[in-house]
Amino acid sequence: MKGKIGIEEHFAIPETLVDSERYFEKDVWPVFSAKILDFMKYRIDDMDKYGMDMMLLSLNSPAIQCIPNTKKAITVAKRANDVMSEAIAKNPTRYRGLAALPLQDVDAAIIEMQRAVKDLGCVGVLVNGFSQIDTPGNYKYLDDPIYRPFWAELEKLDVPFYMHPREPHPENLIQMQGHPWLEGAAWAFGVETATHTLRLMCSGVFDEFPKLKYILGHLGETLSFCIWRAQNRINKTGRGIPAKRPLPEYMQNNMWYTTSGQYHTSSLLNTMMEFGSDRILFATDFPFETVEDACVWFDNCTISEGDRYKIGRENAIKLFKLNL
Ligand code: ZN
Repeated sequence: MKGKIGIEEHFAIPETLVDSERYFEKDVWPVFSAKILDFMKYRIDDMDKYGMDMMLLSLNSPAIQCIPNTKKAITVAKRANDVMSEAIAKNPTRYRGLAALPLQDVDAAIIEMQRAVKDLGCVGVLVNGFSQIDTPGNYKYLDDPIYRPFWAELEKLDVPFYMHPREPHPENLIQMQGHPWLEGAAWAFGVETATHTLRLMCSGVFDEFPKLKYILGHLGETLSFCIWRAQNRINKTGRGIPAKRPLPEYMQNNMWYTTSGQYHTSSLLNTMMEFGSDRILFATDFPFETVEDACVWFDNCTISEGDRYKIGRENAIKLFKLNL
């Protein structure tokens, strides 16, 4: 289909580029790094060729979240958001942006979020999981009570929050020790991001801020398949869970899901059956995956043309108020 809008489409700045190097073999790294730093040549050529009107840009992972020095995290986040907004200004019909945030300091993250949304015109924010604060070994998940003012401001600004994966902290990666092929996007990202999302839902954050709009990539990071069982067990053994409502209700009312890096029709159908086609958005995960693979699969997968249009374009316009 023509006119597709991609929701999880990455760029890097020189300060964050190195974070992606470990995921590539040496021979493909030069091409990958040229693509992720570029806003003009590679991605617009691919978008034109495969029917994408627009990309919502976001920084690579873990980037800001793995900079323990708070001052530096703030500086790099600002710089990344400035670079992104310059690229959008040069290509206003092809790009919008999701802001990076220095959640090492809640007040600074709120100030940068306000600047990004109100001054730079960002249509949402994207955070790469937990943030390391002061030292690499000190890290906080977003269900921590210190982040409640951040969620309050996000709800007030009424822009979507994208929870993007990052590698588990080394002390939690121990179960994959000796099995490096399970790290990263192959498996570790999904477990880490699903667990972070479960922590948030269970913490009651969506009870306190019921208008939050929360996005998961990769067709829900396995949660669309697993959430029934989680709730079934919580019903029987709640262990004092703070959440006031069943977890599937938050996934139905507060969450949206993108196809980033998960070009598999039965996984898409599972997510559609759980949450409906109004809550699913097209994304490629460029340049970690290719625009070609994402688009060729999506354009030909066995769903109705009405659903394809919603997922490929219409849902993004509504959720991000894109004014297209
Ligand atoms: Zn991604």
